[in-house]
Amino acid sequence: MYKRLVIKVGTNVLTRADGRLDVTSISGLVDQIAALKQRGVELVLVSSGAVGAGRELLPERPDDGAVAQRQMYSAIGQVRLMELYRQLFAGHRLLCAQVLATKGDFRDDLHYDNMLNCFRALLVDEIVPVVNENDVVAVTELMFTDNDELAGLVARMLKADALVILSSVEGLYDGPPDGADSRLISFVDPADRDSDRVVQARKSSGGRGGMATKLRIARETAAAGIPVLIGNGRRPGILHQLVKGGWPGTVVGGAGNSQRP
Ligand code: GLU
Repeated sequence: MYKRLVIKVGTNVLTRADGRLDVTSISGLVDQIAALKQRGVELVLVSSGAVGAGRELLPERPDDGAVAQRQMYSAIGQVRLMELYRQLFAGHRLLCAQVLATKGDFRDDLHYDNMLNCFRALLVDEIVPVVNENDVVAVTELMFTDNDELAGLVARMLKADALVILSSVEGLYDGPPDGADSRLISFVDPADRDSDRVVQARKSSGGRGGMATKLRIARETAAAGIPVLIGNGRRPGILHQLVKGGWPGTVVGGAGNSQRP
């Protein structure tokens, strides 16, 4: 049984096609997280969705893609997102906490130690930390590649038993996820670069950047001794598989998806 997990949920799981927050999807995830907490699992949630939530609150503004506008959306949206999490966790008699970080916080020893101490205190008190990039100050070199990178750093900081990355596809494929010939890659050995080539090759021919980054982060995290489970956050009950064993997506490192947790 996993004792400590970091679960990262991407924007595509948290928002609908029109960019609005998908409350049903978020609520389903919180239910599953609460069930894991019931089993005594220590859990940290890394959640995107602030920028999407901010856009939803300011629908009449044309998105000009400017840095200041992204900062503004995230500043507004983070409040909305956390309010939703607070309500949903409260329904399970759980408290959640907001942790915002930049890349610089992982480089600075004092910031790193302060963050670690806070995580420890929250986990001892059975509170669910909800982590996001501090998009207000994270501009240019302070920015993570994406929240996958942030989640990998948090998993390593906390020496988690596993990192779970949930997006809107089942896992890593050896071709476009919706391609008829594409097969799901169920296990990646972090030392084996073959799957890297497959995913990287597809990137150049058809925009597989998201998965290539995921694989890089997953490989680095797995090489540090933390297996990474990539899966579809919209698959009902996906997090229950962490208890049952037999992960339906891609496992990077560890004993593969035949391993029982
Ligand atoms: N921090 C961004 C947000 O909350 C998301 C970053 C990412 O998607 O990786 O909207």
